[in-house]
Amino acid sequence: MSQDVENIKTSYPLFTDDEYKDNLARKRENYEERHPLEKIQEVFEWTTTEEYKEINFKRKALTINPSKACQPLGAVLCALGFEKTMPYVHGSQGCVAYFRSYFNRHFKEPISCVSDSMTEDAAVFGGQKNMYDGLENCKAMYKPDMIAVSTTCMAEVIGDDLNAFIGNARKEGHIPEDYPVPFAHTPSFAGSHTTGWDAMFEGIARYFTLKYMEGKEVGSNGKINIVPGFETYLGNFRVIQRMLKEMDVDYSFLSDPSEVLDTPADGEFRMYAGGTTQDEVKDAPNAIDTLFLQPWQSMKTRKLVKNTWQQPATDIKIPMGLEWTDEFLMKISELTGKPISASLEKERGRLVDMITDSHAWLHGKKFAIWGDADYVMGLTKFLLELGAEPTHILCNHANKRWQKALQAILDASPFGKNCEIYRGKDLWHMRSLVFTNKPDFMIGNSYGKFIQRDTLAKGKEFEVPLIRIGFPIFDRHHMHRDTTLGYEGAMQILRTLVNAVLERLDEETSIMGETDYNYDLVR
Ligand code: SF4
Repeated sequence: MSQDVENIKTSYPLFTDDEYKDNLARKRENYEERHPLEKIQEVFEWTTTEEYKEINFKRKALTINPSKACQPLGAVLCALGFEKTMPYVHGSQGCVAYFRSYFNRHFKEPISCVSDSMTEDAAVFGGQKNMYDGLENCKAMYKPDMIAVSTTCMAEVIGDDLNAFIGNARKEGHIPEDYPVPFAHTPSFAGSHTTGWDAMFEGIARYFTLKYMEGKEVGSNGKINIVPGFETYLGNFRVIQRMLKEMDVDYSFLSDPSEVLDTPADGEFRMYAGGTTQDEVKDAPNAIDTLFLQPWQSMKTRKLVKNTWQQPATDIKIPMGLEWTDEFLMKISELTGKPISASLEKERGRLVDMITDSHAWLHGKKFAIWGDADYVMGLTKFLLELGAEPTHILCNHANKRWQKALQAILDASPFGKNCEIYRGKDLWHMRSLVFTNKPDFMIGNSYGKFIQRDTLAKGKEFEVPLIRIGFPIFDRHHMHRDTTLGYEGAMQILRTLVNAVLERLDEETSIMGETDYNYDLVR
C-alpha cells in the first residue's frame, strides 16, 4: 500500500506511485483495447486541422463540453437570493445532487436545496404524491418562509403540472392555503441556466404581485428595483449596491444570494442568511422602474414588469467596462434625480488612469471569449475599449437579435474587424477555432483548461492560455468573490488581463542567457 492513515495522498501524487502506475498499465494492457500511441497521435493532430474544423462545425446531434448548464440550476440560484427560501426541485434526486455540488464547488459553501426524489413509479404515474410529501417534509424540517419550486427533465417529460399539484397540496392540507410556494417549469431540453433563472424569478414576482396590483402606483415608493439575473460574482452584488448608496439612491435588490453564499465560519451553520424579503417583492411594483443588469437573459420577467407592473423596464446594457457603467449611472441619475456622486467620478478617473497605464500591453492582443449572453457582450465591449481584439466570441444560448446587436458593437470599433460570433456552439467548436486561428488568450470558465492542455500538447507555440473569468470556476479558489461590474469590476478585469500578458511575457523570456534580452524586470 502506498498510503496509510498517517500518509493519505490525494489523487495526483497517489497515481504517480509505482503501485498505481503498474495497476493502470495492466488495466490498459488487458482490458482497454487501446489503439497504438502513433494512431492516437495521428488522430489528435487531425483534430487540430482546418479540415476537421469544417466537419466539427457540421455537427448537429451532439454537444461536447457545453458552454451552459441546465435550467433548474439557474432556478436554484434565483431562489437562494430570497430571504428564508428553500429551493425545491420537483424531479430526480441525482439532478439536485448535481446542482448542489456544482454550486458547492464554485462557491466553496454548503448549498441548501431539496428534491422530492421522483423514481420509477413517479415517472409512470406522475409525481403528485412525491410533491405532497416533499412540500410537507420540507416545511416541517427546514422551516423556510417560502419554498420555490422548479422542475427537472423527468417531471417535464411526463408533463407534471406544478400549478395543479401545488393547488391540490393546499386543498389536501399538506401546506397551508396562504403559504408561499411560487413555481417555475424549467425543462432542461430547452434553454439554459439563464432561462431557468428568469423563469424562477418571474414565478416569484408573479406569485407576490399578479393578483395584488390594486393600490399599486409606479414611483410611489421612490425606489429603483435591480434584477441581477444569473450572477455568480459576489462582488457584483456588493459593487452595485455600493454605487447606489454613494448616490443616495433607495433601491430593492431583487434576488440577492450574496449572504447565504458567503457565510462566516464562526461555529454557527446558517441555512438561511440575508436575501430579498417577501415585503420587498410585494412592494416592487411601486418602484420608479426595474432595471435588469443582464437584459438578454431576462425576457420573461421584463414582460411581467412592463405588462403587470406597468413600469418602463428601461433597456440598459450590462454595466461592464467604462462606457456602459457610465450609461448605467447616468440612467439611475436620470430616473431618480440624484446626481452621480463625487466618489464615483473619482473612481471613474482612476479606471481611466489604469487603462492609460496598461493600454500598450493590451493593444492588439487577441482574445477568444465564451459564456452567457450579457457577460460576453459586456466583456467584448470592454476589450474594445482597451484596444484589445476579440477574435472568437461563443455563446451557447443567445438569440439572433443578440448576435446582431453584438455585431454592431464589433463593427463600430477598428478592433472588432477580425472577430466572428458563434451562437449555439460548444467548447469543442472553440477548440477547433483556437487551433486554426490562434488567439493570444482565451477568457472563460474552468472547462477551457482542457483546450489549453490540448493546445500545449501540440507544442508550446500553439498553447493558448486560459484566463478564468466566468462560471463555473472550480479549479481556482475564491475568484467568485471578485467583481466584474462597475468601475471596480473593470479595474479587476483589466488587472487580470494585463497581468496575464505580463506572466506570458516572463514565461516566453525565461531561458537563461538566451531569451532574457535585457537586464530590466520587464523585457
Ligand atoms: S439536464 Fe435534466 S436530467 Fe440533467 S441534471 Fe439537468 S434537469 Fe437533471
